[in-house]
Amino acid sequence: MTKEICWNITALCNQSCKYCHRFLNLKNLSYEENLKILYNLIDSGVDHITWTGGEALMLDYLDDLLKISYDKGIKNKLITNGRLLTRNRIDKIYKYLDNITLSIDSIDNVINEALGRGKYHFKEIQSILEYITEKKYDIKISINTVICKLNLHDVCSLSNFLNIYNIWSWRIFKFMPLREKAITNKEIFDISMDEFSKIVNEIRKKSLIQNIDTRVEEDMEKKYVLILANGDIVITNQGKDEKVGNALIDRMEKYI
Ligand code: SF4
Repeated sequence: MTKEICWNITALCNQSCKYCHRFLNLKNLSYEENLKILYNLIDSGVDHITWTGGEALMLDYLDDLLKISYDKGIKNKLITNGRLLTRNRIDKIYKYLDNITLSIDSIDNVINEALGRGKYHFKEIQSILEYITEKKYDIKISINTVICKLNLHDVCSLSNFLNIYNIWSWRIFKFMPLREKAITNKEIFDISMDEFSKIVNEIRKKSLIQNIDTRVEEDMEKKYVLILANGDIVITNQGKDEKVGNALIDRMEKYI
């Protein structure tokens, strides 16, 4: 059985998605403190780490942590909005990664701007996909997409676009008003379960991607463990977040 952890290593982000439900206003720990957490995870037997944020690549020392983690035999998955994933950085870190997950919700610049991702987001993701394909890097590429009111009728165009590339998996989230901005902007983004299911069925018919899975509110009712930017260990259960410790001082065995 895999022992995995999702590490929201920074609350900082260089995009401003209006449906974002990350934990806000948490100060970053230092490199040394994050290194201590990483060794705690390694000693606790964690074998898969999902590195996310915020935008994890905003930490310039992330690359070092990825290398240490990789050298210790951990499978690393990086979730990124791609803005800081320059070609140089891909060259540097791809070998430490088992999977790179790119977040994209639309190929339409107007929609991307309205969502808060910025009007160049599609170009940025396209450039990354082109580069990894051209270099034939041995790494799984996954896609995360949030479906909401603004991109509901546009996701099939995204699906056609993704068909060009060798995408390992596509995780499609229904917009979820879980916390922070996502709660404030619920009216702008919320869609019904019926709308979500219909569009996912349509995607499944057209997409060439073999592994497509979905996440809806009920999935958040299962327990899962996060480490936040300040080291807090949080268990989300039935949509409620509960701090159960801090990875700087508490062992992780009982949570994984
Ligand atoms: S959804 Fe992701 S990329 Fe968008 S603001 Fe939140 S953390 Fe940043």
